[in-house]
Amino acid sequence: MRKAVFFDRDGTINEEVGYIKDLNKLKLIKNASKSIKKIKDNGFLAVLVTNQSGPARGYYNEEWVKTLNNKLQELLMNEGTCLDKMYYCPHLPDGIIPEYSIECECRKPNIGLFLKAKKELNIDLNSSYMIGDKATDVEAGHNAGMKSILLKTGYGRDVLDGKYQSIPNPDYIAEDINDAVDWILKVEGIYE
Ligand SMILES: [Mg+2]
Repeated sequence: MRKAVFFDRDGTINEEVGYIKDLNKLKLIKNASKSIKKIKDNGFLAVLVTNQSGPARGYYNEEWVKTLNNKLQELLMNEGTCLDKMYYCPHLPDGIIPEYSIECECRKPNIGLFLKAKKELNIDLNSSYMIGDKATDVEAGHNAGMKSILLKTGYGRDVLDGKYQSIPNPDYIAEDINDAVDWILKVEGIYE
């Protein structure tokens, strides 16, 4: 079985700028590509797990979520790396578009997407990690049996200040994605 690092998308890999309707607004966070490359070079799969409720909210259709994810992948490829697989949840229980406005198993902190990744990519979740900027990312990681890292980028500072969601109990609080990956490599005994 493989080990993986699961990455949230907005505020983790790309800058948090709200719901993106213009592809040019999708910009990589500093060191995002370097961090993903580093974790892959050390034998981990890099997997995206993202809540994208835009379709449920009627902001845009599901195709647009795929377009944004593909653009993200393109930006990473331009810098010499890529995500091994990308999973998203388009749902929201109290959305306005009926087909997406459901209680699902895949919206973080639920673990449906992690279980799908486990099955499709043969991942050992107990040896894997979650990195994200929201309390729900931390909870999702823990719910799936992983160590979870909260970032100070994106919504992370608001979460830590108690201004957004509840304060979670992450295994580590990282300055950014690069600090998070370095912490993982230390826990794994790869870095001193
Ligand atoms: Mg996020």
